[in-house]
Amino acid sequence: SPFTQLGLAPALVQAVVELGYTQPTEVQLRAIPLALQGAVEGADSKDHSHYVDLMVSSRTGSGKTAAFLLPVLDTLIGHHEAAKAAEHAAFERKVAEALEQGLPAPKKPRRKSPMHRRFEPAVPGALVLCPTRELALQVSRDAIDLLTHCRGVRVGSIIGGMPYPKQIAQLQNANLVVATPGRLLDLQRSGQIKLDEVQFLVIDEADRMLDLGFAEDLEAVHQLTAQRRQTMMFSATFASRIQQLGMRIMHDGGQHVQ
Ligand code: AMP
Repeated sequence: SPFTQLGLAPALVQAVVELGYTQPTEVQLRAIPLALQGAVEGADSKDHSHYVDLMVSSRTGSGKTAAFLLPVLDTLIGHHEAAKAAEHAAFERKVAEALEQGLPAPKKPRRKSPMHRRFEPAVPGALVLCPTRELALQVSRDAIDLLTHCRGVRVGSIIGGMPYPKQIAQLQNANLVVATPGRLLDLQRSGQIKLDEVQFLVIDEADRMLDLGFAEDLEAVHQLTAQRRQTMMFSATFASRIQQLGMRIMHDGGQHVQ
């Protein structure tokens, strides 16, 4: 599949093939390589100007959801695999030490089930903001589909109307959170979620966001996320109010992808 040429993790390419995508769509071809480039260059740099922020013109049906989910998930999968490898290496070292000292080999630490763990706020690495709960639900379903072959990366959603305990439970350990802005800020204020490790901020349907009066919420969320961060805005138009928002929350207003 030509998706292999985009340099995405094999688990994602496999998922895309199983979803029946044969060719990347126009917006995917234009946005994914740029988004991945931003992630790589920024990763080791103190200078966040190396991050490529994107302002992408896109319509529903263009494949825009996968255009932002694929690069974001690719990086989250990379982090997850690196963390797993580090954990494994640390365990191997412990086993070797024990052997050297003639002690019994240590047991692999067992993960506590969520039921027995005390509450900890969610600390996602990526955040997608959507104007409506319907769209947020669709985006989180798409993300779960793309993660079929990488169960270690988790998706949570924050959507008005979901019962509160259920909301909190499914947020625990989420690496990617898909949210509507108002409800997200409520949970942030009450300490259920921390945004300071968010390295990817995606604003989907930015034009509808502004229509619905979310401009201030978007700026508030933006202030709460990590300094070193890649922001991607998707919008049907580049109307001046969209560009103004882009200037406020993206480096140089973001690179335009049309
Ligand atoms: P979206 O524009 O994100 O709402 O996507 C519109 C529809 O296109 C969704 O049903 C996707 O599953 C589908 N889709 C996304 N990318 C591709 C692709 N590369 N090939 C075929 N279908 C796709």
